[in-house]
Amino acid sequence: MTQARVALITGAARGIGLGIARRLVEGGWQVVLADRDAPACERAAAHLGGAAMAISLDVRDEAAIRDLARTLEARYEGLDGLVNNAGVADPICGPIETLELERWNQWIETNLTGPFLMCKHTLPLLRSRRGAIVHIGSTRALQSEPHTEAYAASKGGLAAFTHALAVSAGPEVRVNAIHPGWIDTRPETERRNEPLRPVDHRQHPVGRVGEPADVAALAAFLLGPEAGFITGQAWAVDGGMTRRMIYAE
Ligand code: NDP
Repeated sequence: MTQARVALITGAARGIGLGIARRLVEGGWQVVLADRDAPACERAAAHLGGAAMAISLDVRDEAAIRDLARTLEARYEGLDGLVNNAGVADPICGPIETLELERWNQWIETNLTGPFLMCKHTLPLLRSRRGAIVHIGSTRALQSEPHTEAYAASKGGLAAFTHALAVSAGPEVRVNAIHPGWIDTRPETERRNEPLRPVDHRQHPVGRVGEPADVAALAAFLLGPEAGFITGQAWAVDGGMTRRMIYAE
């Protein structure tokens, strides 16, 4: 029997990260869900069944990441996939004139430094198995609304980190990024109580807002062997919104 491939996914207690974990389990992977919300992470892993394991982790904590890498080495002897998904997902930081350095750093530390630390400590494990890394960026790396500088900078930095690391980590490890657009990650009850407006869906060239499964499908492909000739790239999964030209009528 061949051993199942093993993926580590950060921020996997909910939302896009959980969607990716679910998709990988369906594809026969073992998944390690890492999130700072330990109870939610435990519940998510229990829901996914025996192929999932929960780890309490803050991606800003280098010592904890080093320990996790040791645990994974002892348990699995290597890693086939890393998905850097954990992020401060709220993009609004307010006017830059009043943005405190401490608040700026919240976005940079989690969304950019976190992936750096995760890659730094898991790269030897990924190299040993010729694994792949997927970064979850944002279309806000490419386009902006006002007062989103910290988030946009963190995701723009992650996009550049992706192609730089792809060049350094090859040929053993491939590194790619996904830029999600609007993905509805709200719990089912909230979706029922506050449904999105028809215009929310209609404005997208594909006619709908995105789902975690839309991002998960591409993440699973990029982690797998069929993407073996793809590295250092980034894709928008946004229903076409970054291709839509908008001028006032
Ligand atoms: P959610 O907020 O629903 O889930 C993110 C998870 O990551 C939460 O469980 C959160 O815990 C956890 N987390 C946050 N900070 C840390 C940390 N320092 N260490 C470990 N875990 C952490 O986010 P989404 O699923 O919406 O987003 C996931 C990723 O996708 C993010 O990187 C986001 O920027 C990106 N994205 C999302 C889009 C969307 O429309 N949803 C669009 C474009 C990009 P806690 O709840 O405690 O904060």
